[in-house]
Amino acid sequence: MSTESNTKTIQGRTGSWELVIGLEIHAQVASNSKLFSGAAVGFGAGPNEQVSLVDAGFPGMLPVLNKYCVEQAVKTGLGLKAQINAHSRFDRKNYFYPDLPQGYQISQLFFPIVGEGEVLIDLSDGSQKTVRIERLHLEQDAGKSIHDLDPNATYVDLNRAGTALMEIVSKPDIRSAEEAVAYFKKIRTILVYLGTSDGDMEKGNMRADVNVSVCKAGAYERFRETGDFKQLGTRCEIKNVNSFRFMQQAIEYEARRQIEIIEDGGKIDQETRLFDSVKVETRSLRSKEEAHDYRYFPDPDLLPLELELAWIEDIKKSLPELPDDKRQRLVTQYGLSVYDATVLITEQARADYFEAAAKGRDAKLVANWVTNELLARLSKDGHEITDSPLPPEQIAGLVELIETGVISSKIAKTVFEHMWDGKGAVTPAEIVETHGLKQVTDTGAIEKAVDDIIAANPDKASEVATKPQAIGWFVGQVMKATGGKANPAAVNEILKAKLGL
Ligand code: ADP
Ligand code: MG
Repeated sequence: MSTESNTKTIQGRTGSWELVIGLEIHAQVASNSKLFSGAAVGFGAGPNEQVSLVDAGFPGMLPVLNKYCVEQAVKTGLGLKAQINAHSRFDRKNYFYPDLPQGYQISQLFFPIVGEGEVLIDLSDGSQKTVRIERLHLEQDAGKSIHDLDPNATYVDLNRAGTALMEIVSKPDIRSAEEAVAYFKKIRTILVYLGTSDGDMEKGNMRADVNVSVCKAGAYERFRETGDFKQLGTRCEIKNVNSFRFMQQAIEYEARRQIEIIEDGGKIDQETRLFDSVKVETRSLRSKEEAHDYRYFPDPDLLPLELELAWIEDIKKSLPELPDDKRQRLVTQYGLSVYDATVLITEQARADYFEAAAKGRDAKLVANWVTNELLARLSKDGHEITDSPLPPEQIAGLVELIETGVISSKIAKTVFEHMWDGKGAVTPAEIVETHGLKQVTDTGAIEKAVDDIIAANPDKASEVATKPQAIGWFVGQVMKATGGKANPAAVNEILKAKLGL
């Protein structure tokens, strides 16, 4: 698999440039309680209703590691084909912030629970590429400061303080905005399949820090050969990007900004930036010179984390079928194209829907209907596949009617419209019956239509003898006369006979 095929070059004034991107993704662990306390984790609780004395940083409170969160991190590591570290450790990252009452965040800097792994990303041209993972570690989230409730005060809500985050750090293997978005999407899909995070970006449960640098052709290859980061340009880190669209825009803006500075003879300062989604630009937040010294040290309240290999093995056995394996199976078991299979595996529920509808039916046809008509209509009307008004049996029923020649593919679109309007209450077969949409295979009826049209158009009929392709016009007329319901093969055959072809 190529690492270079999708590298996009960006044209500057002085020549072309290449992008290098690395992502740090923060995903909230799907868990009922926090990483080091028994306080509940949930959305929609009143301010400070889900806060224990540990989360509030009261003196003398001791953290107790949540085993379930550790299991979720291990599961995620296995899903990312990564090294699980039997030995890891928690460190304190010290800094002051009003929504961090402990005065430090417990994280894993030196010995993360998960080491190197890899992810296969799916690109729009149908190709795939491997992005390597550097590490995954567990850490606490901070609370929230709320600045817009009172002009003279800031409020602090500690409900989120202490919830478990997984930080997934990629190697700088990403070479375009499209690849960055594809990577973010794939990580989200894998986490949702595993059930280790709900991946809900609107709730802020998944967000990414995006590191971007630019360099000249050849520099990246030298970096890959030598591992020397100095071969690359200076990076800027765009904090907390929480939508696919913003990620795309932020990277495109940031790359342009850096290229312009360098081409004007300037230098890139390593800094942390924010993306302003209204102005569609990135802005400096702080430079590396102002960076805090976090004075990391091992948390004295927590023992090192030692995992038993048997426990890791048990977790491995409990893994569900992952997206890439599912795609492979859909292709071999049902003969689907890689493209259709990729659309279906994006969400587990989509693939499940497809498999339920495909039972005993022409699977490719089912995949077509699910990935085209159904998904388009669901998204247009703001539905998820999980609350589709049409259950899989309805699509199966429609495909059965096409397969058995009761309706043509064209009429099937009309039937689908009725199915959608009926919200699944009426079966496709009933719709065909009540609306008289059955394909006309009755040769008598077709013959009559053909006779009428030939009789009304003698000139055209004689023309066909010298210009056989003119038969197309007759086919169109017969279809029109039968409301599109005539069986096309029968129409052709009868026309040929009657026109003496
Ligand atoms: P920090 O905490 O200082 O941001 P991390 O190691 O956690 O450091 O994350 C650094 C991220 O930046 C990684 O995803 C890495 O791949 C990426 N990165 C490192 N150097 C570059 C570079 N020159 N250009 C783009 N991304 C980079
Ligand atoms: Mg960073």
